[in-house]
Amino acid sequence: MVVIGGILVMGGLGMVVGLGLAIASKVFYVYVDPKIEAVDDALPGANCGGCGLPGCSSNAEAIVAGKASPASCVAGGPEIAAEIAGILGVKVEAREPEIASSGCTYGVQDAEIKYIYDGVLDCRAAALLNGGSKVCPIGCLGLGTCVRACPFGALSIGPDHLPVVDSSLCTGCGTCVRTCPKSIINLVSKTLNIIHLNLENECLAPCQQRCPAQVDIPRYIRLTGQGRYKEALNVIKERVPMPLSIGRVCPHFCESACRRNDVDEPVNINHLKRYCADLEMKSGTRYETLLAPSSEKRVAIVGGGPAGLAAAYYLKRLGHASTIFEAMPKLGGMLRYGIPEYRLPKKTLDWEIEGITGLGVEIRLNQSFGKDFSLGSLKEDGFDAVFLGMGAWGSRSMRVDGEDLKGVLSGTQYLIQRGLEQEVKIGKRVCIIGGGNTAIDAARTSLRLGAEEVTVLYRRSRKEMPAADYEVDEAEAEGVQFHFLAAPTRLIGENGNLTSLEYLVMELGEPDESGRRRPVPMEGSEKIIEVDNVIAAIGQFPELDKDALKYEDRDIEITPWNTIKTHPDTMQTAVDWVFSGGDVVNGAATVVEALAGGRKAAAAIHRYLNGETKVLPTEGLRSDIWDEATKEELQGVAKIPRNRMPDIHVPDRVGNFKEVELGFSEDQASSEASRCLQCGIYCFNRN
Ligand code: FAD
Repeated sequence: MVVIGGILVMGGLGMVVGLGLAIASKVFYVYVDPKIEAVDDALPGANCGGCGLPGCSSNAEAIVAGKASPASCVAGGPEIAAEIAGILGVKVEAREPEIASSGCTYGVQDAEIKYIYDGVLDCRAAALLNGGSKVCPIGCLGLGTCVRACPFGALSIGPDHLPVVDSSLCTGCGTCVRTCPKSIINLVSKTLNIIHLNLENECLAPCQQRCPAQVDIPRYIRLTGQGRYKEALNVIKERVPMPLSIGRVCPHFCESACRRNDVDEPVNINHLKRYCADLEMKSGTRYETLLAPSSEKRVAIVGGGPAGLAAAYYLKRLGHASTIFEAMPKLGGMLRYGIPEYRLPKKTLDWEIEGITGLGVEIRLNQSFGKDFSLGSLKEDGFDAVFLGMGAWGSRSMRVDGEDLKGVLSGTQYLIQRGLEQEVKIGKRVCIIGGGNTAIDAARTSLRLGAEEVTVLYRRSRKEMPAADYEVDEAEAEGVQFHFLAAPTRLIGENGNLTSLEYLVMELGEPDESGRRRPVPMEGSEKIIEVDNVIAAIGQFPELDKDALKYEDRDIEITPWNTIKTHPDTMQTAVDWVFSGGDVVNGAATVVEALAGGRKAAAAIHRYLNGETKVLPTEGLRSDIWDEATKEELQGVAKIPRNRMPDIHVPDRVGNFKEVELGFSEDQASSEASRCLQCGIYCFNRN
């Protein structure tokens, strides 16, 4: 009985459930459009995503809904397109291939950059179909796959047909990076940007390849052009922590590589940098700098010039405590004690340095390495690594008779005295020997201190002068006279006081090891000029204390040029916890190279402190890539005059140390940014 009852109950339940399911199937039925099914069946099922949709089923739905073309399947080809058209009751007709234009206009004319993509409205599809654009091996296709792929709506295609990221919406999920068929979207963190060294396989614009600091120039110019100045400055600061100073004194090697040279004149890259940096200073509020959490590691930095300041800044951003030991009463190195006020006001330099020390960098001033402390004492004090950035403060001698006469000065000592705000006395007739920055600064400073006749004597021709062209032009405009192909042979004096200088006329011979034509004296061409002062500015070198450059039984190696020897990629010395950079490694060079050395060393110290022993890949820049591009490819680019930095008129500046260059207006910055060809993103190589 019990068993029969159980069967009846189960049977009854079964009937109820069956009835319920029957009703549910009527109410909750899933309707599949037979057309979608048929189109889905016709599609090859590759799920390649070439149509721009997540798979063939989605594409089938989109085709039937009229949102995708019957020919949208990249893998299927014309036969499948015809089959699908048959299902939909339409005909496939031949049509012209569509052409995507990047939309870059360069003033009045469209630049000829076209992407033939056979009607496919998606970057990935274009890439699958054609292996990417047929006319441009680099560069954004501008069709917006990344925009559609972004799950957070953080991307849009901007007016220049390039993806624009809304950083407030971006979560860094990396979908856009995975989707971009041209691999030109990168997902990076600020830390990665700081420690990254450009590599050969990267697509870099020519200006970027030439910049020693590896600044992403096209990116900050693009942001500047969009009025996103703060973001532009953040891009600059990933590689250059002193943009106020660099924006004023950089010899801008980048501009000589600018492809606008083949159209009209290079983009005024450096002054755009200065514009963005000046805006921050003028606002009076520092933009926030994100610091990594503390690593509890401590790094000692010897020398507070640009190299040391850069190392301290980046180490701090990477989470390591840094302490600068500086021999002089103030930080800044040659930026403070060499470069005069009329090029870089001390107020500006102070603001910039305070921005770095304000991050929590400790400073110990009037502390001389080798005298007040040593590598051993730093180790005992618990420092985990050391960066040496003592610069090149020794002045080369002229090696002529009379150098000890009163009135003969060294260029750097002369300028340092001014930098120390000490009184500097100068006569009416001043002759400067040399052709570099120090010579030009000594000449312009002399004019400002009241000298009436200032002459620069240089043994080669103007073309070979190492000083920046525009500095020479400015000096000439201010009244400095130049004697080229002249070398001093004797300094003549009375009662220990300098009275005149004898020089020989030179002619240019064969090129020497520097590639410049060697000056050869012309026999019997001696000439004498009367002078009150001679300022020797013929070169600087690092003054190294060899006893201080050792730890236990290891010596830091010194090169024949009296510079510190380091590994070129890591800036590591023969003592593995000691790194070095700037002029003390390069010899007297430039600020941008010193900053680059400081960052490179900071990146290597970061790896060293994290226990990473692998040497970084050799840095290499593919400068050859641009040889492929020819001038004809720039023919469609309209000529737009370069914006020039306004400056104080000559009569208003010679008697004082006021800053000569006044800075761009917003209109100038914006118009100059629009001149950038955005090489590496827009591509002109149509082979
Ligand atoms: P430095 O700037 O020399 O700094 C080294 C620091 O180390 C100094 O603060 C020094 O006091 C300190 N130091 C030295 N010895 C010790 C020690 N024993 N203990 C502790 N601290 C020590 N470059 C450009 O790019 N553009 C220009 O227009 C330009 N003009 C210049 C004009 C002049 C007159 C001079 C002299 C140089 C110019 N330069 C220019 C070159 C540029 O200034 C240097 O290449 C750059 O400053 C090097 O940076 P650095 O940090 O390696 O060395």
